[in-house]
Amino acid sequence: MKPLYTKTEYNQASSNDKLALQCYVCGKTYYKYKRYINSFLKYHNPQENSCKYCSKKCEKKGKFKPRTEFLCDYCNNKVIRADYELRSKRRKSNRVFCNRSCAAKYNNRHKKTGTRRSKLEKYIESQITIDFPNLKALYIEAPPPQGWRIPQVFI
Ligand SMILES: [Zn+2]
Ligand SMILES: [Zn+2]
Repeated sequence: MKPLYTKTEYNQASSNDKLALQCYVCGKTYYKYKRYINSFLKYHNPQENSCKYCSKKCEKKGKFKPRTEFLCDYCNNKVIRADYELRSKRRKSNRVFCNRSCAAKYNNRHKKTGTRRSKLEKYIESQITIDFPNLKALYIEAPPPQGWRIPQVFI
């Protein structure tokens, strides 16, 4: 509740007089009976989530949770998320998916494992460079058995 009335106005008003309040949504002044305001203040504190709007229309707007449209990062379908969900601290990235299965598929496709290079591979690579300094070696990535890469060297 945002009172626009002054203390004097409040004190001078009888319970059947109306006092001015400000709408949280449209900012317009609206009026409530003093007896209504009194009973409100008896049971609620002024910051509470009621007695904020001039009309039902504004109440709807005020209670509406802002939502934003996104495209799923995997399948490009439209996803609508409430803004508060996206601000959640539990989110690990800024990606948005329409469901868990899209998230899982995305993560599988972008897995970072397999790019690790084995010590053996590095060793062979360095030996080749020493043994054949005039040759340019081309290293090709092979499917990793259990996270390791088999060095494939073409000279
Ligand atoms: Zn309003
Ligand atoms: Zn999707």
